[in-house]
Amino acid sequence: MNQNATIEGQDGPRTALCPPDLETLIEWEAEGGCEAACPEGCWVEADGYCPHGKPSWLIVLGLI
Ligand SMILES: [Zn+2]
Repeated sequence: MNQNATIEGQDGPRTALCPPDLETLIEWEAEGGCEAACPEGCWVEADGYCPHGKPSWLIVLGLI
């Protein structure tokens, strides 16, 4: 019996990303950009969007 099959659905979708903590955001800002809220981990401008149409975390978190 495949036990993995019984827990299907417990993992969140890949789009449900964990937001970075404030320390990380400050580091990114010091580097002049921000990671996008994208499963690919795209690097964008602080107020930008990645090629997949995902906004930067600063936008998602309402910090910009
Ligand atoms: Zn992306």
